[in-house]
Amino acid sequence: MMECLESNEDCTSDNEDDFLDGMYELANDETIEDMWNRRKECERCRRPLTVCWCPFLPLKRVKIKTNVYVLQHPFEELRKLKTAPMLQQSIEEGKCNIIRGKRFSKRNIKYPDLTNILQSSNTVLLFPGDDAIDISELPPLDEPYNLVVLDGTWTQAKGMYINNSLLKLPKKVMINCDRKSRYVIRTQPTDNALSTLETVAVAVSVLENRPALIDILTAPLDALCHFQLQYGAVRHQSKEYKIANGLWTKALPRKMIREMNKKAMEENKDAEKNDQTDHTNDVDFDVDNDDIVKHVNGELVNSVNDEFNRVENDINEASKS
Ligand SMILES: [Zn+2]
Repeated sequence: MMECLESNEDCTSDNEDDFLDGMYELANDETIEDMWNRRKECERCRRPLTVCWCPFLPLKRVKIKTNVYVLQHPFEELRKLKTAPMLQQSIEEGKCNIIRGKRFSKRNIKYPDLTNILQSSNTVLLFPGDDAIDISELPPLDEPYNLVVLDGTWTQAKGMYINNSLLKLPKKVMINCDRKSRYVIRTQPTDNALSTLETVAVAVSVLENRPALIDILTAPLDALCHFQLQYGAVRHQSKEYKIANGLWTKALPRKMIREMNKKAMEENKDAEKNDQTDHTNDVDFDVDNDDIVKHVNGELVNSVNDEFNRVENDINEASKS
């Protein structure tokens, strides 16, 4: 199964995306860090002393029932700005397990219990999808839930999910909350995407019905963002915001282009419904969405419309000759 997945073309391109995504994000982190490279580090959080977030950790580690397993993409560990260590330092020892890697086989040498955990009926994986249920709908159990999260950029997390059949075993859950990420110094994929720390804080607060947990667990993150912004970090808008406002400068994935294309067509249809003009003699035309790839900025909808106009012209020319 693994060999089959490794030779899969889609996975290869995902891995490349994964790599580039990771390198891009790492390069982004470096700029602020360079300012501090001569300063002393805190031994606990490994941050320069002047921006150490340790004073914002809870005075006593928080006791929770849930067992948290953070499957961390290797690139995430290299990042200087990361949220999983805050979680690990905030909750009681042994309750937050960080397991690093991209591939998790049944014979995981470093963490042999992982297979059993992923096969247990009380284990849930936080991952979006049509088959994911709202975490608040989970029934209470006699034993605590095992909560598994994938830590990395969205592309990395998706790659880990696709490439590991073991991750398909647990029930998929998602959190449903209006909270906007306070992790403003790293680009989140959508306005509602939360950092790993925020996601776990919300999920555990729902599972254990303890709303106050969210603010307690995310206090070090608030401090980190405050420090970074104070020392000149750029406040990041979400990828969704950037795309919608024409600020996104990287190539968009095909799937997103198809979705935007579909949305634009639906909006056109709605506009047509409201338009009373007689269109009975209009020429129908169709565009293969896959032909429209790699639009590099938010003027995508315009590009799609240009493509439509081009095809319509071609049809008109063809019908004349
Ligand atoms: Zn510290």
